[in-house]
Amino acid sequence: MQAKSKVLIVYTGGTIGMIKDPVTDELSNVDFNLISDRVPEINRLNIDVHSVSFDQPVDSSEINVTHWREIAETIFENYLDYDGFVVLHGSDTMAFTASALSFMFDGLQKPVILTGSQLPIGVIRTDGKENLITALEIAAAKDENGKALITEVAVYFDYKLFRGNRCTKDSAENFEAFRSPNYPELAAAGVHLHYNTEKLYRSDNDQIAINSNLNDRVALVKLFPGINIDLYAAVFNKKDVDAVVIETFGAGNAPDSESLRRVVGDFISSGGLVLNITQCNSGSVEQGLYKSSSMFAEIGVISGTNLTTEAAITKLMACVDPNNLEQSKRKISENLRGELD
Ligand code: ASP
Repeated sequence: MQAKSKVLIVYTGGTIGMIKDPVTDELSNVDFNLISDRVPEINRLNIDVHSVSFDQPVDSSEINVTHWREIAETIFENYLDYDGFVVLHGSDTMAFTASALSFMFDGLQKPVILTGSQLPIGVIRTDGKENLITALEIAAAKDENGKALITEVAVYFDYKLFRGNRCTKDSAENFEAFRSPNYPELAAAGVHLHYNTEKLYRSDNDQIAINSNLNDRVALVKLFPGINIDLYAAVFNKKDVDAVVIETFGAGNAPDSESLRRVVGDFISSGGLVLNITQCNSGSVEQGLYKSSSMFAEIGVISGTNLTTEAAITKLMACVDPNNLEQSKRKISENLRGELD
């Protein structure tokens, strides 16, 4: 018989741990103990569950690179003592945090499962209980050789497990709040937990390391018909910004405009990096497929193929080193953690 798995919950906040203020009716976060009191089923799982909490749990709109470092370092410091990790997190920016963590860890051989809920754990119809209990089961799951089944950062929500850097929140209403537009689900929870074994990420490296050095001189521009790109001069300015994600039309297309070529081209010539991703809900950038994207290839814009916005931004944060442009460019184009095809 396999030994009982040991799982660490890292509680950061989010709706799962919120209660309504009786006066203002606003939802705000409570202590982790109140969550575990509401889910006594945790004690019936055959898992040794421990928890740590942010001193000040937050709505995930507050999450920033400092929080990502805190989560990553907590996991890193406890890595050898636990079989898996569950990060309780607000759903609003969960896909950003999951993507960031995926790039911050190298050589991950244990599961890091993010989950949360659309309704607080104290509400009768909450989705939080199922999400938490199944996330714990996934974080504890081992194969027949006693090795972790999941060895990547993943998001569990509403009976589905997604690769963290492939998913995106797409509903503020449904319990089914996430989807993974360009990559299949890693697992589905029904009567049994069905793992999509062939699609699971495996690192070639078995030495865990973290890169907490994130570059926040990163910006995002979404094109729209009629955009006046000169208004974005402060963004395409190497003095303050090292890299920009451009969300383009369709397969990576943009208007054939002299000002766009000049603004983006000057930024690249001055040492800035530009990553082209599509604003479509699925599919991939193919620079050069249309005349309207050839200009980007000509001036040195990097194709983000089918990266999500969340993965594009956090990949730039993790990879862009203004003192080593060539290496940064190479890393951005490579498939580092199963985030692109
Ligand atoms: N605003 C909440 C948060 O992201 C929503 C949620 O948890 O679902 O923290």
